[in-house]
This record gives sequence, structure tokens and C-alpha cells, in this order.
Amino acid sequence: MKVLVLMLDCRRCKHVWAPRKHEVKMCPRCKTRYWNKTRTYDTARKQKRLVKILFSCLDTADFLRKARDDFKRTD
Ligand SMILES: [Zn+2]
Repeated sequence: MKVLVLMLDCRRCKHVWAPRKHEVKMCPRCKTRYWNKTRTYDTARKQKRLVKILFSCLDTADFLRKARDDFKRTD
């Protein structure tokens, strides 16, 4: 039987550990409940990131459209 060990890392203190429970409420080292979030994660940055993701999706869509057209042309 294969055992999958999931490692988690705290964004605040960089502590890496293997959780014993499925639900991890806090970092075992610094006891923060926000181990999975960055401290400097403001909304503006989040929006910028979302826009970036959106643009990359559009790029992919554009790429797929071009690929489809190329495929049609060679047909
Ligand atoms: Zn921590």
C-alpha cells in the first residue's frame, strides 16, 4: 500500500510539516491560523493577479483559435 504524505508549509514562518489531520487549523510552530495566507496579500494585488490570470486565459483561447484555424487550413 502506497502512503501519500502531504506536506504543508506555513507562509508566515516557513515551517514545513506533515499534517496528521485532514483539517489544518493552525501552524504547529507559530500557531497562526493564517498559515495558508500571505500577510501582505492586499486586494489590489489580488485584483492584479486575477487580471493576469484572465489575460493568460485569453491568450490560451487565442492560441487555441489559431491552432484550430491552422488545423482547418491544412485539412
Ligand atoms: Zn508558522
